[in-house]
Amino acid sequence: MGRMIILGSGSAAGVPTISAGWGNCNPENPKNRRSRAGVYVEIGDTKILIDTSADLRNQLIDNHIEHIDAVLYTHTHADHTAGIDDLRAMTYHHSTPLNVYATAAHMQNLHERFAYVFNDYTGSDATHRPLLKMNIIRYRETFRIGDIEILPLEFAGHPMPTTGFLLNRGKILLVPDYKYILPETMAVLEKFDVDVLIMPLTNIDACPYHAGMEDDMRYIKQINPQKVFFTHMSQYCDYDAVEAMSAPNMHPANDGLIIDL
Ligand SMILES: [Zn+2]
Repeated sequence: MGRMIILGSGSAAGVPTISAGWGNCNPENPKNRRSRAGVYVEIGDTKILIDTSADLRNQLIDNHIEHIDAVLYTHTHADHTAGIDDLRAMTYHHSTPLNVYATAAHMQNLHERFAYVFNDYTGSDATHRPLLKMNIIRYRETFRIGDIEILPLEFAGHPMPTTGFLLNRGKILLVPDYKYILPETMAVLEKFDVDVLIMPLTNIDACPYHAGMEDDMRYIKQINPQKVFFTHMSQYCDYDAVEAMSAPNMHPANDGLIIDL
């Protein structure tokens, strides 16, 4: 039916980080080398990206992804957006702009920082047409891109809300960077049987900006998915250590991990 690729399994600085190195991660394990977080999903004939990480170009080349139908944004922190310009290389041969989807607040922020990708320069130079087309989404309002049905849900992030995506009525739940799950979001999630849950685990211990392992475990119990993959992991999350702390249906992700759907 489809597949998903974890393009990047790292948090904002990647692993190793420029100044803090490998932290608690074993440098001998190649699964601990992590680029910035992003996901590719292919269901039926439809291919989408979730976020455009700072490492997008290498991720697309390494995973042989040459075409996508749309991009969904979880929020606008640099690690999730800084690769936006690499979408140009995917749209060179398109006659229409690529559709990107985000909440109004996130879209406004994207536009402030990367106005040139949305602006219309049509006229004498046909190569200067807009590269991306904005589509505003609202929490708890389902929309569809080809074969993928998408329900955006609000999470408490830092400092602004972040957007999670429930795809095809529970086939995949992608939880974004979050501090806690809002009760109204959990009330929606409890109505679905989730197959695959992609869950951030920035640090084992919670910090003022991100939830930790204890929070993840509490929420996983409530959501009760079949399989869980942890992502957005910092240098404090060694692959084998996370695996050892997890139940049999939970695993740390790694860059390039393919999940069959
Ligand atoms: Zn992040």
